[in-house]
Amino acid sequence: MPRRFSGDRIVIASHNRGKVRELALLIEPFGIAAIPAGVLGLAEPEESGETFEENAGLKARAAATASGIAALADDSGLVVPELSGMPGIHSARWAGEKRDFRIAMERVHRELGNRDRSARFVAVLSLAWPDGHTECFRGEVAGRLVWPPRGERGFGYDPIFVPEGGTLTFGEMAPAEKHRISHRARAFEKLVAACFSGR
Ligand code: IMP
Repeated sequence: MPRRFSGDRIVIASHNRGKVRELALLIEPFGIAAIPAGVLGLAEPEESGETFEENAGLKARAAATASGIAALADDSGLVVPELSGMPGIHSARWAGEKRDFRIAMERVHRELGNRDRSARFVAVLSLAWPDGHTECFRGEVAGRLVWPPRGERGFGYDPIFVPEGGTLTFGEMAPAEKHRISHRARAFEKLVAACFSGR
């Protein structure tokens, strides 16, 4: 049985502004205040895991044990089958020290060349309690990669990703539209069913 969450605030264990914004928007309707990890001065642990689940779990646990407040972490990325699943858990790293996603998108485009442009976004949400207990949920959205990048909305690889059945990139979609179908929203639906039921 998953553990239910009964508190009224959660630390968002991320220093990525795009993610903090999206996760805060997801939890606030449940009457839960979102506290960014940066506001508490929490350090970011090294993402030493080899899977999205391991990395999400270690980030959430580090924030929950350091703050004494339950923490929510997201580990996510773009998985491209023709690139053997890369950039995958290394999606942020492909953007370099300066987190310049034009460089990362360009690299995906260049490495793919003329090969099949199918891709998917994966998000694993991990909710951890200060005693170390952790729950993990995975969501995915399939789509294809386009070039050149389109749209100023969203973050990361959004401007080159068109979800299955659509024509707009995530970077061109209104945030509410992206949140309706995104990998993060799908993982969050599972988290709600398991941990927020009855709120
Ligand atoms: P990490 O989970 O902090 O290792 O970083 C995940 C990286 O995956 C982000 O920095 C983005 O580059 C990419 N990513 C994850 N989710 C999205 C999304 O919704 N849109 C665009 N890029 C994303």
